[in-house]
Amino acid sequence: MPLTRETKIYKTFMVSISLAIIAVLLGIFFITTARTTQLINEENVIRARTLLNSIILIRKWNANHGGVYVEKKKEDKSNPYLTDPDIKTTDGKAYTKKNPALMTREISEYAEKEGVFKFHSTSLKLLNPVNKPDDFEARALSLFEKGIKEISHTEKKNGITYFRYMAPLYIEKECLQCHSTQNYKIGDVRGGISITFDIENIRSKLETNTIYAIIFGLLSTSFLLGLIVFFALQLIKKTSLIQQRLEYLAITDGLTGIFNRRHIMSRFNEEFERARRLKKYLGCIMIDIDKFKSINDKFGHLVGDKVLIEISVRIKNAIRIYDVLGRYGGEEFLIVLPDTDFDNTKSLAERIRENVKADMFLATDRPLHVHITISSGIACMTDGDSSIDDIIKRADEGLYKAKNSGRDRVEWL
Ligand code: GH3
Ligand code: MG
Ligand code: MG
Repeated sequence: MPLTRETKIYKTFMVSISLAIIAVLLGIFFITTARTTQLINEENVIRARTLLNSIILIRKWNANHGGVYVEKKKEDKSNPYLTDPDIKTTDGKAYTKKNPALMTREISEYAEKEGVFKFHSTSLKLLNPVNKPDDFEARALSLFEKGIKEISHTEKKNGITYFRYMAPLYIEKECLQCHSTQNYKIGDVRGGISITFDIENIRSKLETNTIYAIIFGLLSTSFLLGLIVFFALQLIKKTSLIQQRLEYLAITDGLTGIFNRRHIMSRFNEEFERARRLKKYLGCIMIDIDKFKSINDKFGHLVGDKVLIEISVRIKNAIRIYDVLGRYGGEEFLIVLPDTDFDNTKSLAERIRENVKADMFLATDRPLHVHITISSGIACMTDGDSSIDDIIKRADEGLYKAKNSGRDRVEWL
């Protein structure tokens, strides 16, 4: 298929529409993935905040009571950071004091054992070095001192993804009971509580979703692109056929199927230029059917048309493949003969005359026998010819001479 202007337009259209589809699908994919990740992150923050608020409430309850006493079992150790944490009741039972920090640590140990979540209360100014902040917590604590209210991030440890969240703990009146030696004022950030929970499950589900989305995206993109390519190719094929048909119609005579006048003249000009450039012969035969009017009058216009078609076929059969035949007028034909000298032009014109004159049976209701003759004027290119008009003029004059000399003959000047 030749790469016509239309084909190029379709190719550009195909490439543009394909790129547009890919861009839209990629856009949808990235927006959906980003939005899902953001929503899950927001949910995790809400979950962490809820957990943290519960812990703060329990701490507050403990602090409001100035710490709470629990019965001291054998394995229980006393809190070394409290002065006189142990008491004994009159009935001899031993109790030890659990302040908010110790209580938080112990609940955290339970939570971790249960595998639900982990939390850790820590500070940059520690009383108990066991509560030392890790990297995330240390970073969060220094940001809290600059006024930031909460920090969260995800991190991977031993192949498992964790969500980590941290919020500050502010000094309240009750806190000063234990932290009075650290020069805190009410409202100061005295540390923070970090919450850590496993989000591996949701992360792997999200990953699976992303893989499905990519597979679906690739399949639908390929399907859409396939459809576009298929229909565009069909369109290109159809357009090309239409274009070929239009080109054929533009140069062909509708009745006889030979070249029309415009095209035979254009081809004659081309052959004239070529013959002149290459110093070759160029012959021309002008044919007019004798008394054609009487055929129409006698048998009707449709029969006249059939005669024109039959004569075209007979002339075509007589000429060579590179000779050019066209319908010059109503019942006039012009033949351009490249590389043909006068003698060969004359003998070809004679052969055509004989062919046309031979018995002609037309396929009508019943086979119709008609007797047709033609007159021809011939001319060949000479050095003095400045255009094809000069040759045509001589051929025309030859034809006139043939008509005046009794018809059914070939004449020249
Ligand atoms: P002459 O020998 O002097 O050429 O006589 P003629 O009757 O052929 O005269 P002329 O060339 O003037 O007549 C041409 C006729 O050809 C007139 C017209 O009716 C007929 N003709 C032209 N085109 C067509 C066509 O497409 N179909 C048919 N059936 N007849 C046509
Ligand atoms: Mg005529
Ligand atoms: Mg005629």
